[in-house]
Amino acid sequence: MRIVLVGPPGAGKGTQAAFLAKNLAIPHIATGDLFRANMSQGTQLGQKAKEYMSAGQLVPDEITIGMAKDRMAQPDAASGFLLDGFPRNIAQARALDGYLDETDQKLDAVLDLEVPEDEVVKRIAGRRICRNDSSHVFHVEYSAPKTDGVCDVCGGELYQREDDREETVRKRLEVYHSETEPIIDHYKAQGLVTTIPALGAVGEVTERAMSALQRTRA
Ligand SMILES: [Zn+2]
Repeated sequence: MRIVLVGPPGAGKGTQAAFLAKNLAIPHIATGDLFRANMSQGTQLGQKAKEYMSAGQLVPDEITIGMAKDRMAQPDAASGFLLDGFPRNIAQARALDGYLDETDQKLDAVLDLEVPEDEVVKRIAGRRICRNDSSHVFHVEYSAPKTDGVCDVCGGELYQREDDREETVRKRLEVYHSETEPIIDHYKAQGLVTTIPALGAVGEVTERAMSALQRTRA
């Protein structure tokens, strides 16, 4: 299956993508990973991306598109893939359409994870990360540490990342509305979009997504 997963920041997209890809035995292609891999391997695209980023500029779509195409052309993606973070705007969606056409492939589904905006803000702004190890993650409401501000795992100090502050989250949501949401309409016109309510336990959301995919397959 070839799937695109979309959803606002805080919808748990990365987590769902990892579970779904595992369940479906297809590679999880995340934009963040593509950038890291291309930069650490020093590919031409990775080097270009690095130049833009160190100049504090946005990486042009053509670089992201190039990385995604290279990855989709790998043998393990021949029978399917799950895209996470790509396409993130209309230009990228059109480029993906073009690539799939050229290579005689089709998307099977676009899953749109839906979370109320206030919930997104609550989820992200409540996150607290350990200074010793960024994999020690807590939430002031949903998974509070035993002692305020102290990591349960190692006793380290918990802090809120700049990216997780409410104003930053609201700004990221605005960007999502203006740049990424239009791709949902783009794919709706192709009859590919299934909306998945993304509230509730992680496992429940995965189940909803899996049964939606089974319906598209049937
Ligand atoms: Zn810790």
